[in-house]
Amino acid sequence: MQRFEELRFDNIYARLPPIFYSRHQPAGLNNQFLIHFNRSVAEMLGIDPVEAGRQDLVDLVTMNKPVQGFDPVAMCYSGHQFGQYVPRLGDGRAILLGQLLNDQQARWDLQLKGAGRTLYSRQGDGKAVLRSTIREHLCSAAMHGLGIPTTHSLAMFGSDEEVYREQIETGAMLIRVAPSHIRFGSFEYFFYTQRYEDLKTLADFTLEHYFPECWKEQDGYLGLLKRVIESTAELIASWQGVGFCHGVMNSDNMSIHGITIDYGPFGFLDAYDTGHVCNHSDYQGRYAFDQQPRIGLFNLSCLAQAMLPLFNENPESAAELATAELAKYEQIFEKAWTAQKRRKLGLVAERPEDATLFDQLLDMMQQSQTDFSLFFRQLSESNPQACRDNFIQRDRFDDWSRRYAKRLSQESRSETERRASMQKINPKYVLRNYLAENAIRMAEDEQDYTEIDRLISLLSSPFDPQPGMEHYAQRPPDWANTLSVSCSS
Ligand code: AMP
Ligand code: MG
Repeated sequence: MQRFEELRFDNIYARLPPIFYSRHQPAGLNNQFLIHFNRSVAEMLGIDPVEAGRQDLVDLVTMNKPVQGFDPVAMCYSGHQFGQYVPRLGDGRAILLGQLLNDQQARWDLQLKGAGRTLYSRQGDGKAVLRSTIREHLCSAAMHGLGIPTTHSLAMFGSDEEVYREQIETGAMLIRVAPSHIRFGSFEYFFYTQRYEDLKTLADFTLEHYFPECWKEQDGYLGLLKRVIESTAELIASWQGVGFCHGVMNSDNMSIHGITIDYGPFGFLDAYDTGHVCNHSDYQGRYAFDQQPRIGLFNLSCLAQAMLPLFNENPESAAELATAELAKYEQIFEKAWTAQKRRKLGLVAERPEDATLFDQLLDMMQQSQTDFSLFFRQLSESNPQACRDNFIQRDRFDDWSRRYAKRLSQESRSETERRASMQKINPKYVLRNYLAENAIRMAEDEQDYTEIDRLISLLSSPFDPQPGMEHYAQRPPDWANTLSVSCSS
């Protein structure tokens, strides 16, 4: 475990041709101070958690003190936003400092989010507000706790800088951590500007540093696409399994690593609603909960399209190769999602009727507006009365329960074993909107940041019952009905 000064940094992305990025020094905020440092992320990176108490971390990350190896850049990319191609996006408020090289020789990108204007800021101010920073900091930890691939947030900072949104808010910043911040949109940028040499450079860079095993395949580029299709399909199946709604699945918000990235107006389902739209600005419901798997394929098609010149010089042959890979998405997704369904119900043996049993349950949950997380947890705890109380049509639920009991009787595991395994897939605690909102209100109104710490520790072990925290697993209070989240943050 090392102290910050002992760490070695580099920035391999900044050695790519200049078209890939724009160099910027991060801008600190007025009276910037450390709000929360995530010790488990630090440990993952090989940073001594003792650093958690350091206030001069601000100087280090905003480069008021020189840090050898940092070479800060904003990355250039484009992407499909709400179905429309936008020719240039890029990091409008994020700055990639470089990669941390730890003792295990792992490379981790460290990126500041909210560090000032860049070449790609357009009309934006390059800043992030406290509200959205808290949400991202919390959700990164929550997703990791759930075992879902995600970017991480090492630390978050507050300030007394005024930031203008619908109202005056305060500026904040976080250190985002990921294997890399390469997005589907990174490839799209070079394809649509017809810079095929740069496209190849990006693909080679991605393969060399992050997917070296794909080089072994006959066609490394196609192998890369295949990997991204698999990891993205599996990622989205895991989102569906915990009721996570991303909110802005634009192709620039999709990671080449198949990890969840860009936490904006995300949400976890409270009452089960298959068409739930968590983003208030998504008027058409393009990114509704049940659309996510389909949108995953749309985004992968955008990536595949952008990679076409890499597959074959002949566009038709290239398209054939890409189409054949994309055609596998649905099957990969279904396989992962069916496995999720079985595990959520505590089934091991694979029987064709299991998916129907699960879907009928969801159908009843939809009708009764049953709380998604709470119900599956009650089912995992074999609490039949509590389960039954979630439904309006009790006789229908009783009928379902009888069929479920019959199905369970065909399993060879003991009830204790089954319960234990169900409690490892059906979380007791998820980052419900109202829980994040409580932490935000305490931070904004009282400069009290203790709830952030409490939630991070709770959500880092979301499957374990935690004494005294029972109320965090409950349905949202009535006031939470009025909460809305949108892209503006
Ligand atoms: P998002 O939907 O949050 O991923 O943002 C879409 C694009 O807008 C990205 O290129 C962001 O970098 C950019 N952006 C979002 N907020 C700001 C801001 N406050 N200042 C500058 N650029 C921003
Ligand atoms: Mg984004």
